[in-house]
Amino acid sequence: MAQSKVLLVLENFIGGKFVPCSSYIDSYNPSTGDVYCKVPDSGKEEVEAAVKAAKDAFPVWSSKSPLERSQILNKLADLIEHDLEAFAQAESMDQGKTITFARTVDIPRAAYNFRFFASSILHHVTECTEMATMGCVHYTLRAPVGVAGLISPWNLPLYLLTWKIAPAIACGNTVVAKPSEMTSVTAWMMCKLLEKAGVPHGVVNVVFGTGAKAGEALVCHPDVPLISFTGSTLTAQRITEKSAPHCKRLSLELGGKNPAIIFDDADLSQCIPTTVRSSFANQGEICLCTSRIFVQRGIYSDFLKRFVAEAKKWKTGNPSDPTVDVGALISKEHLEKVRNYVKKAQAEGATVLCGEGVDSLALPPGNQKGYFMLPTVIAEVKDESCCMQEEIFGPVTCVVAFDTEEEVIKRANGVKYGLAATVWSSNVGRVHRVARRLQSGLVWTNCWLVRDLNLPFGGMKASGIGREGAKDSYEFFTEVKTITIKH
Ligand code: NAD
Repeated sequence: MAQSKVLLVLENFIGGKFVPCSSYIDSYNPSTGDVYCKVPDSGKEEVEAAVKAAKDAFPVWSSKSPLERSQILNKLADLIEHDLEAFAQAESMDQGKTITFARTVDIPRAAYNFRFFASSILHHVTECTEMATMGCVHYTLRAPVGVAGLISPWNLPLYLLTWKIAPAIACGNTVVAKPSEMTSVTAWMMCKLLEKAGVPHGVVNVVFGTGAKAGEALVCHPDVPLISFTGSTLTAQRITEKSAPHCKRLSLELGGKNPAIIFDDADLSQCIPTTVRSSFANQGEICLCTSRIFVQRGIYSDFLKRFVAEAKKWKTGNPSDPTVDVGALISKEHLEKVRNYVKKAQAEGATVLCGEGVDSLALPPGNQKGYFMLPTVIAEVKDESCCMQEEIFGPVTCVVAFDTEEEVIKRANGVKYGLAATVWSSNVGRVHRVARRLQSGLVWTNCWLVRDLNLPFGGMKASGIGREGAKDSYEFFTEVKTITIKH
């Protein structure tokens, strides 16, 4: 018997108040295929109100000391940590990711983003030089820029949104944030904590809605001088065009087509489980996920056999089951797109070794209409194939053989993206040589996804413009001024 379910209805958060919207978008639970939430379909009017609230709040917030702001950020981190389980449940239901991933990665990191920038904002120093012969000293000052527009994607919803909100407000800016219309719930939940944390009204405003309406209104708003965007390269191109007439400052964190290079002296007992994780974690929906695996020919067959056996151990199913490793993909359309890549590879003569179309997927009755797909490993793919060139952003990885160091560097660099690469070898000299020559903003050797938030994060080529991290985010979210004093 069909049960009538109560829908969760979100509201925009503007000037410290929840404000209803005149129209709403359906938001789906990816693991059941049901509409379970209504997200405001905001446009120019809502963005206008949010920018005004942020502008009004700017003078007071920007004049607070870094220590005062730091204490508020720490309090917000405490509150998120206190509600970690509720946030994790919501993130898993909204995005399709496993509850284990939400509990151990997304929400702890969202809290830590506030904690990290609460600390780092206290430790910046500005520069000073002297020109003794001219009787002058020069020094720099940094000031917040104003209202920051923050736009984030659906794959790591609260994690990536807070990675922007935290540095922006730590530096003294006020913000208008727009999360993905597909994953808005945890941002809305965070808004409920802002007042208790001591964030003054108008410092953080969240406007929900689509990219075309709400996102573009924010990008085009003349009173928003900077936009920090994480999402696809295609959307970044549009944002660049739309913001160009206003000469806005842009930070663009975009897609990847990340290689793992595995030399014949790699420790496969570490490399194989880590590369399975780097390929399939969060259903392969992380910009840093590995999707091209280059294996040196001498170990290719052994690697492939062991890699496929390890991938098959990953359990796909109901995301709220803590024993499940692979949850649901974000949407029906995205699932179709990812499946089509596998079909195209097969049509080109590639071999699917496990997963989609090869193994059967048994799902619990309540998840039959969810957007699930097994971890899929493809071999015999040509470098020119769309599966080796385009970002698939799903649980699909391609494995190919290589012979020499020189050859693999060229092939790894032979895509338009340059976000994250992984190198596996026990030869330290080789690791340094290869890491240096890879066109990639991040290179992990003999590990994956080990991050020090102090250091720059970001991509080369079509993977982005700008870097984020302690110093880089500080520089992006502040304006520098050079002052000369003659004595
Ligand atoms: P997307 O580009 O479709 O959307 C990202 C955000 O931009 C959403 O909030 C969306 O509503 C908004 N948007 C869409 N069109 C817009 C427009 N015209 N103007 C303003 N805003 C607009 O990306 P997605 O599908 O949500 O996310 C997946 C992509 O994000 C992948 O390409 C992935 O690699 C990338 N990503 C990159 C990083 C990184 O740090 N480099 C991290 C995570 C995800």
